[in-house]
Amino acid sequence: MSSKLIVGNWKMNGGLAANQLLLDGLREGLGAVRSRSAVCVPHPYLAQVQLLLAGSPIALGAQDVSAHTAGAYTGEVSAGMLRDFGVRYCIVGHSERRQYHGESDELVALKAKQALAHGITPIVCVGETLVQREAGQTEAVVKRQLAAVIHENGHCISEIVVAYEPIWAVGTGQTATPEQAQQVHGVLRAQIKAATAHAERVSILYGGSMNAANAADLLAQPDVDGGLIGGAALKAADFLTILRAASR
Ligand code: PEP
Repeated sequence: MSSKLIVGNWKMNGGLAANQLLLDGLREGLGAVRSRSAVCVPHPYLAQVQLLLAGSPIALGAQDVSAHTAGAYTGEVSAGMLRDFGVRYCIVGHSERRQYHGESDELVALKAKQALAHGITPIVCVGETLVQREAGQTEAVVKRQLAAVIHENGHCISEIVVAYEPIWAVGTGQTATPEQAQQVHGVLRAQIKAATAHAERVSILYGGSMNAANAADLLAQPDVDGGLIGGAALKAADFLTILRAASR
């Protein structure tokens, strides 16, 4: 397994001035950080952030991609367009998109396919609601979500990143315990191993209120290969603390 991967999801936050400040802070503080890292920014800022990240080890990411290649899909952004701006990672199937935009497992799988076809690594988000967890359905839900992506993408599955993001932990300040995270990551790892001979290439990130204080314990779990960070990615000092925890 390669070094840990820490990805910031800025969601619908930022602005030209704020982005510059945040990235200046990150670049100044990076020092000897050895983990892999990326920031997934709103589409309008891709060009700005591409320039600001030039020469830095932080990769550029996007937060969504169209399931289509081109054409009459008003408001959508294709994988080819993302590639034009040097995008290396793209989140697909974030719970906020599944919840607010009705994205199905099948649509998420097609989005992952588009990303892969354009040399972009999809970060496939899976996760259960609190009701599903309490009903003992966590395993079945995350396996169903990942199975759709495996079914659509076949052997290319070794080129994806998976993010386990329990919905009850995203943006709530309530984090999964390291043991809860490890348990689900173990399930996902087994599913990936059954689908590809190159499972070791697939990083499984944890996301859901990971922050400067809890990152080290979560990242110490054997099957937690990194983190997908929302709120704490908007403050340079916090994101840097997480990057350092991932570098140990
Ligand atoms: C996310 O948006 O993917 C996320 C994990 O958010 P937060 O860290 O704020 O819970």
